[in-house]
Amino acid sequence: MWTIQCARCRRMDTYHPTQWRCTCGGPWEPPRPIPFDHRAIRPYQPGIWRYTELWPFGQDPITLGEGWTPMIPLSSIDPRLWAKLDYVMPTGSYKDRGTATGLNALREMGVDQVMDDSSGNAGASLAAYAARAGLQATLFAPAHASPGKKAQMHAMGARLIEVPGPRAQATAALLQALETGGIYASHVYNPFVLLGLAAAAWEIWEQLGQAPDAVITPLGHGMLFLGLFLGFEALQAAGYIDQLPRLYGVQAAACAPLAHAFAADLETPSPAEEGNTIAEGVRIPSPPRGREILQAARTTRGAILAVQESEIRIAQEALARQGLFVEPTGALAMTVWPRIARETDRIIVLMLTGSGLKSLHN
Ligand SMILES: [Zn+2]
Repeated sequence: MWTIQCARCRRMDTYHPTQWRCTCGGPWEPPRPIPFDHRAIRPYQPGIWRYTELWPFGQDPITLGEGWTPMIPLSSIDPRLWAKLDYVMPTGSYKDRGTATGLNALREMGVDQVMDDSSGNAGASLAAYAARAGLQATLFAPAHASPGKKAQMHAMGARLIEVPGPRAQATAALLQALETGGIYASHVYNPFVLLGLAAAAWEIWEQLGQAPDAVITPLGHGMLFLGLFLGFEALQAAGYIDQLPRLYGVQAAACAPLAHAFAADLETPSPAEEGNTIAEGVRIPSPPRGREILQAARTTRGAILAVQESEIRIAQEALARQGLFVEPTGALAMTVWPRIARETDRIIVLMLTGSGLKSLHN
C-alpha cells in the first residue's frame, strides 16, 4: 500500500492502479519532498537502481539498464555548457527511467496488462519494458507518429492502435477503451513515473559533483521537467544543495500552451492549437500537469519558452556537428541556451532526450 497525493487538491490516498487520477481530476504525485539520503545510494546497482533504497518498490526490478546516462562538457561551444545524453537509453529516449519505475510499481501491485497513449517514444519504451516483464501492452498512437517509433512498438510485441487525427484523439480513443476495462499505465498520470524521472536530477548532481545553475529540457507533457523539479527539491530538502537549479522548458511555437501561459502569468494553461511541428514529442495541446509545471518553473526562477521550426533544425544540426545525433524534439534544449547563458557564469545542462535514429524521415 503506497501513499500518493493529489497535485491539485492535496488529498492523500493509497494508490490503486484503476484510480489513475484523483476524484477531483487532478494527477497523483509522490508525497513531497521525496526523502533523499546519499547513504542509501547503491553504486554497484545498474542505472537508476542505485537509488532503489529510496523507493517503495524495485528490490528485484524488471530492468533494461536504464539511467546513469553520460554527462559530457560541450566546451568547444561554451565552457559552461554540459549535455546529459538521455537518448543513450535502452529504447533511445529519456522515457525509460520513468517507464521502468512506473511499470515495476504496477507489476508489484499485480497488474498483468497495460495501456497507454503516446506519440511514439513513451509507447516504444512501454512496449520494451512490457516485453521484458512478460506483460501485454496496448498502445494508442497518432497515425502521424514516426514510422521508426511505430516499428519499435510492433517489433516488441505491443498491440498498436493507430488513431487518425491530432495527438489528442489517441488519448480520447484510449479513455473510451478504458470504459470496458484495463489498466491505464499512463506515462503522464502514473505517479511512480515521476520517481524514476527524479533520478535524472540525482544523476546530474552526482556526475557534476554539484547542482548546475540551470537545466533546459524539451517540454510537452512536462514529465521530465517535473521529475527534475522533484529530484532537486528532494536534494534541497535534505540539505545537499542550497538553491534549486533554474528549470527552463522549451516548446515548439506551433503548439505552446505552457509558454503562452507562462508569458501571460496564468496559473493554468489554456488548450492550444495543435499545430504541425517537426518536434512531434512536444505536440501536446493540453498537458494534464500544466498547472504544476508552471508552478515549478516559477519556483525555480526558470521560464518556459517557445521556438520556431527553423531554430529547432539549426540546433539539431549544431548538435550533430558535436557528434550528438538527436531527433528534432531532442534538440529543443539547444535552441535557447545562449539566452539563458547571458544571466549566469555557472553550469547549464541541456537534456538531449531522443535519438536521431527515431526520426530519420522527419
Ligand atoms: Zn484531487
